[in-house]
Amino acid sequence: MNRIVIAAAALALLTPSAAWSMGQQAKKGPTVHTFTAPEDAFLVSSYAFESDGEILLVDAQMVKPQVDKLIEQVKKIPGKVTTIYITHAHPDHYLGLPWLKTAFPQAKIVADADTVDRIAAEGAQTLAWFQKDFMNGQLASVLPTSVVTPEKLTGNKLKVGSAEIEILSFADAEAKGAHALWHAQTGSLITGDLAFNKVHLWLKETKPEGWIKAIEALEKMPVQKVYPGHGEPGGKEILASNKSYLQAFDAAVKSSKDGAALAKTVKESNAGWRVAPIVDFAVPTYFSAPAEGTATDAKDGVKTETKTDSKTESKSDAKPGAKSDAKSDAKSESKTDAGKADAKKTGAK
Ligand SMILES: [Zn+2]
Repeated sequence: MNRIVIAAAALALLTPSAAWSMGQQAKKGPTVHTFTAPEDAFLVSSYAFESDGEILLVDAQMVKPQVDKLIEQVKKIPGKVTTIYITHAHPDHYLGLPWLKTAFPQAKIVADADTVDRIAAEGAQTLAWFQKDFMNGQLASVLPTSVVTPEKLTGNKLKVGSAEIEILSFADAEAKGAHALWHAQTGSLITGDLAFNKVHLWLKETKPEGWIKAIEALEKMPVQKVYPGHGEPGGKEILASNKSYLQAFDAAVKSSKDGAALAKTVKESNAGWRVAPIVDFAVPTYFSAPAEGTATDAKDGVKTETKTDSKTESKSDAKPGAKSDAKSDAKSESKTDAGKADAKKTGAK
């Protein structure tokens, strides 16, 4: 299933003539082009924010087939890629950078300092794990051979053509260090993994509380369009749906007797949300015993934990992988068992 969504294609066709008809002072408004990977690539979304012949590319995908498709789509957009921005240090959002760097050598590759520090600290180890251990190395042929660490951005603004984008930062949301891009003039919010559209939320690295606060802050803004980190763009209802999911997940953690019950409740109460194995990956953050009948083993071949104590409220931070999607999760699991000290050492700031 190869799904390429170019969300604003129609607008892109219409806008020049509309601007022309408004007279010479009218400028073409910015356009956000969307690329969403298929479900087996976790529906990771990348965006091309285009303004006045300049393009800001947001998030890099992970596996070569998807990065290739992203590059192909971006090259069809009139304009020059001047900047590539990485929203957070999860591998599904930055491992594709080497190919983007080759395709757009003139672009500055940037991220906020916490993202950069974490990629610098964990990137090579994360990549090596995916190459050798994840699915017994079956993904190696579609993974890069090196990690590109972005440069640290100074300030909280990005300029694209005549558009100015503000970076909104949260220390504790889907990741410990989550950033969204806000274009006030159009009410466009590129959320990174602060929001998913009908894709199960990654609650492996952090607990719902901080993420809920972040979404509440975003909900106060005059958002017109939400461009999520996983799944397709939509309206502000995406934020509301994520908040409801997080609140229900939090309640399910408290009411469930074990991990299996938690996974069952979350999946049943969010029917229609995609990439269900994400829930199974999150469960050990809340209950040390693995959920029965989860897809975890089948999917990645990584042994689940076998501890039998009940809740492990303090474990969520000890995850080096702490990466986003199911893939990184599997990694964190293996790391958690292998060496918690290392995990803590390399954890996000
Ligand atoms: Zn992600």
